[in-house]
Amino acid sequence: MISKQMQVQVQNSSVIRAMFEEGKRLSAIYGEENVYDFSLGNPSVDPPAEVKTAILDILNNECAGTVHGYMNNSGYETVREAIAQSINARFNTNFSQKNIIMTVGAAGGLNVIFKTLLDPQDEVIVFAPFFGEYRNYVSNYSGNLIVIPANTSSFQPNLELFSEKINARTKAIIVNSPNNPTGVIYSEATIKKLAEILNQKQNEFGTNIYIISDEPYRELAYDNIEVPYLTNYYENTIIGYSFSKSLSLPGERIGYLVIPDQATDAENIIDAANIATRILGYVNAPSLFQLVIARCLNAKVDVEAYNRNRELLYNGLKSYGYDCIKPEGAFYLFVKAPNNDDVAFCNLAKEENILVVPGSAFGCAGYFRIAYCVSYRMIEKSLPGFKALIDGVNGK
Ligand code: PLP
Repeated sequence: MISKQMQVQVQNSSVIRAMFEEGKRLSAIYGEENVYDFSLGNPSVDPPAEVKTAILDILNNECAGTVHGYMNNSGYETVREAIAQSINARFNTNFSQKNIIMTVGAAGGLNVIFKTLLDPQDEVIVFAPFFGEYRNYVSNYSGNLIVIPANTSSFQPNLELFSEKINARTKAIIVNSPNNPTGVIYSEATIKKLAEILNQKQNEFGTNIYIISDEPYRELAYDNIEVPYLTNYYENTIIGYSFSKSLSLPGERIGYLVIPDQATDAENIIDAANIATRILGYVNAPSLFQLVIARCLNAKVDVEAYNRNRELLYNGLKSYGYDCIKPEGAFYLFVKAPNNDDVAFCNLAKEENILVVPGSAFGCAGYFRIAYCVSYRMIEKSLPGFKALIDGVNGK
């Protein structure tokens, strides 16, 4: 028998799995090119050329012979120092290699930090809509995820409700900006207010509340919008970064945590996270890709390709009468279901061979998510289907 906890987690994963199966089924009937699968956040843009050059050079020359070995659980010191210096230069921070722990993507980093911080029944607050896997990452360590309902007018976090929900058991809050699934970037004003509330509550309860900033989409910001670097606003901030989207390397599983000296109990957290990495079975983040990303810290994917997709899809859907806010980052559009029932609408969309994910999977029913990290051509071909869907709902 599988464990009771796994029974719940298997159930939680069923929407995405069902979507995957549906994509395969429709492709078999209509041909892959006639199925518009917007369900996955798998980057459609190639990794920058520097990545391939680095892989070949490392294997052929630089580290041949040692590249596949174990190293410090936290990762290569040289790689961590390069990352620290790169962050310092960009965000005016003061990190060194000891503040950086290499991780198996953002998912690995979040699991390491929750393993490090959470006692059973500790509360972790998240703002809806949110990446659904957080439920599992928190319940893995017997924490309770507390969801703040969405503020659907702007999709900036609802700070009044947030303030009310903080109590003596609140151990952490998750911030994800640019956000999956809305593409919203939390403004500097929002971050300042958030920090103010947290400082007040830490004083009130005599506790430490950590911001866990989940940042796989940091580099995917449009129109030159700044994404505030949270350690500069709140001392108890831990950053979880990933190269999955920023360098289009999701299958290579590489990212890092930043644990600043200024965070309360930083030394113990750093030591414990180093051990958590090992005992969770990651041992260390993939060796080759640690070395690769250290050489690609200034490399960029073609964000403009996602921007073109954003413009085409957003303008198209708005012209048909869909209600959505324009994403400022990431590669998702979060749209109000015209019939107000996200699950029913996503089922209806399948009739147009369109696969999109119900907002309820992100803690926000009544909306659906379109992942526009696909080809421009696919968006063009899918637009008549989106029009037919809303016209159908409106009885046109
Ligand atoms: N956090 C968010 C918000 C995501 O959207 C994703 C992946 O889509 C992850 C974490 C996991 O990323 P990674 O592939 O780096 O583990």
